[in-house]
Amino acid sequence: MSLQGKKALVTGGSRGIGAAIARRLAAEGATVAITFAGNKAAADATVAAIEAAGGTAFAFQADAADPASQRAGVDQAAAALGAIDILVHNAGVAEFSTVSEDTDETYERQFGVNVKGLHVGTRAALPHLNDGGRIILIGSISGEMAFPATAVYSATKAAVAALARGWAKDLAPRGILVNTVQPGPIDTDMNPADSEFAGQLLQAIPLGRYGRVEEIAGAVAFLAGPDASYITGTTLNIDGGTAA
Ligand code: NDP
Repeated sequence: MSLQGKKALVTGGSRGIGAAIARRLAAEGATVAITFAGNKAAADATVAAIEAAGGTAFAFQADAADPASQRAGVDQAAAALGAIDILVHNAGVAEFSTVSEDTDETYERQFGVNVKGLHVGTRAALPHLNDGGRIILIGSISGEMAFPATAVYSATKAAVAALARGWAKDLAPRGILVNTVQPGPIDTDMNPADSEFAGQLLQAIPLGRYGRVEEIAGAVAFLAGPDASYITGTTLNIDGGTAA
């Protein structure tokens, strides 16, 4: 229970990695708010799972790509929690297309959620974020290596890590630590382990398997907790060795 009494906001906490992070932070004692885009049933299920385990959780619809919606979601979450100690920017989208297939819309959608959403969300959260707090961004190993037909997604995730490095310096005077977790292939709706893409990818993963959402949640809990007190501005790859 290393996060007893802490208040955490996890964006995109309805499914996949974000839901696992929300459950893990709650299991460590944090009160948790999640945001979701449109899947209320999944968001309610995450809240119910946390409450069934004895925790406290809230869910708010907030489109990360829409600044007004994102700000409202952060404000609602902060009001429910009372303040924020841990902000996890997990909401993200990925679209497969080569540069010949990319459109203005595929570019805007991915940068809108993956980059603008966390820039707006962090600015909205700062007035509520306690000194000594933590900001954890979910990037991707795609931010530092190329996979087929995902250049724009890769560019968004390179931007995520760059924002974290800059914010680590900006927010150090307040004792707020900012780090990026970069997952490798993790079995979720975004990247199912039984897809054709997964079949090709497996050969590139030294550990020979997809990761589990709980393996990302564990890293986030570490970065949110007391053992990470001297870690800021770094990236942590959780990828079975894929980017090594
Ligand atoms: P999923 O597609 O399984 O889940 C995405 C989550 O983000 C859902 O909770 C979804 O909400 C939410 N979301 C999507 N768009 C928005 C939006 N516009 N506003 C608010 N919330 C939104 O994805 P994963 O769990 O796989 O991915 C989570 C993060 O991890 C992403 O940032 C992704 O880029 C990153 N990542 C994933 C990897 C993987 O292999 N799975 C590898 C590397 C990084 P809703 O349920 O309402 O749709």
